[in-house]
Amino acid sequence: MSHSTLQRPALHGRKASSSSFAETFEIARSKLQDFDLDIESPIADASPPSPSSLVSDYSPASLASPITHPVTPGLDPDVADNFAFAFDIDGVLVRGGEVIPEAVEAMKVLNGENEYGVRVPYIFLTNGGGKFETERCIDLSRQLEIDVSPGQFICGHTPMRELADRYHGSVLVIGGEGEKCRQVAESYGFRDVITPGDIIKANSATAPFRKLTEQEYANSRDLLAEGLKSLSDVVIEAVFVFADSRDWAGDLQIILDVAMSKGGRLETRSETFDEGPPIYFSHNDVVWSAAHEHVRLGMGALRRIVEVVFSEVTGGKKLETHAFGKPQVGTFEFATRLLQQWRAEQHGLEESAPPDTVYFVGDTPESDVRGTNAMDAKAKNNWYSILVKTGVYQDGTEPAYKPRKTVPTVLEAVRHGIEREMSRRSAATGKLLPLDEVAKKAVGLSGPNGLKAMNNIPAVQIQGEDVECQ
Ligand SMILES: [Mg+2]
Repeated sequence: MSHSTLQRPALHGRKASSSSFAETFEIARSKLQDFDLDIESPIADASPPSPSSLVSDYSPASLASPITHPVTPGLDPDVADNFAFAFDIDGVLVRGGEVIPEAVEAMKVLNGENEYGVRVPYIFLTNGGGKFETERCIDLSRQLEIDVSPGQFICGHTPMRELADRYHGSVLVIGGEGEKCRQVAESYGFRDVITPGDIIKANSATAPFRKLTEQEYANSRDLLAEGLKSLSDVVIEAVFVFADSRDWAGDLQIILDVAMSKGGRLETRSETFDEGPPIYFSHNDVVWSAAHEHVRLGMGALRRIVEVVFSEVTGGKKLETHAFGKPQVGTFEFATRLLQQWRAEQHGLEESAPPDTVYFVGDTPESDVRGTNAMDAKAKNNWYSILVKTGVYQDGTEPAYKPRKTVPTVLEAVRHGIEREMSRRSAATGKLLPLDEVAKKAVGLSGPNGLKAMNNIPAVQIQGEDVECQ
């Protein structure tokens, strides 16, 4: 098989720096404003596409997509300029704390070990959290055998950073290991972070079935020694579920106590049950892919429980909570701005368009595919959803939201995206294609629908009160 028209110089002899994306994204990220939050807006979502719109990749419409961005002299010709990848992590690259073997290979392919010698930029977009972004990047760098910088990394609680400007008083932070989420919240700028451990330390009757370990007791703040007469001197301005709860019963009790309080004041009860502070979840995934053969319950399940039980204990009152992360379009918009800024930096420009196509690789139809398709329907550039079979999605089942492509692992996802781009590039430049590419293209051309048909599906409002972070 020959790809002579597309052949790049062999990787060897060139600077095969896998760290360069880490560095360049770090620069781009530093120049970006973080999320602009619009917490009142519900997300707009694309309805699942009909089967007839799932057309071949090599359709006439796809070939009509312009690939005409001027290339600035001096720009590394081996770095792809008009497409990029974005990856979910759990169930795609990592599962149960162990790297998925194909993920290591996939990163090598992105860093130039492919038949075109092209290096393709990539970012990571996970709903997970509970650690500093820097720590998660160190883990990921080790697992994937590449350098990953926080500039390339967006996690579930990343947008909560912006809310530190909104809530200057006490906030209740839930979830994660030990004191980690308190530390992350403080690093985001929250001034007075209270955890369930602090409340239980001050009043052990709060959660009858929860006893703090010695270490937890020692690490928890002694609120009553900080000049407060009683817990009722504490007013919680907002509740943030940063990461998965390690004590669902105790955390549920404390979240509900605050939700039913008079304006967030601890140990009080509202008469009307509509005075509680806002409650934010860093994402809404009901299940996730961990080490167990079947999916495990996630933060979205706790969110449902909080809302249902609130209604039970208040005689039918409705509690509105908010969620960030995928599938909220704002999360993807932030990713677009990051890629756009990165591209501008690459060109040495102040501003640039985002890459024409972003390939999003995920394992959860309800968050990864849904969000990517919704973004594709809204954005000027293309967001192309690829579903892998290494996580939440079970092969042979019908995904609730239809991806553009389903593949076994992240490695095939990366190869598919690169092949698709190279075929499009060949078609656009009018160069001769190798025979197999011609054959693929012919198959695509005979298809009944154009690729952009996916983008013509009208957006519909969905029910819900999720946060949109832009
Ligand atoms: Mg996942």
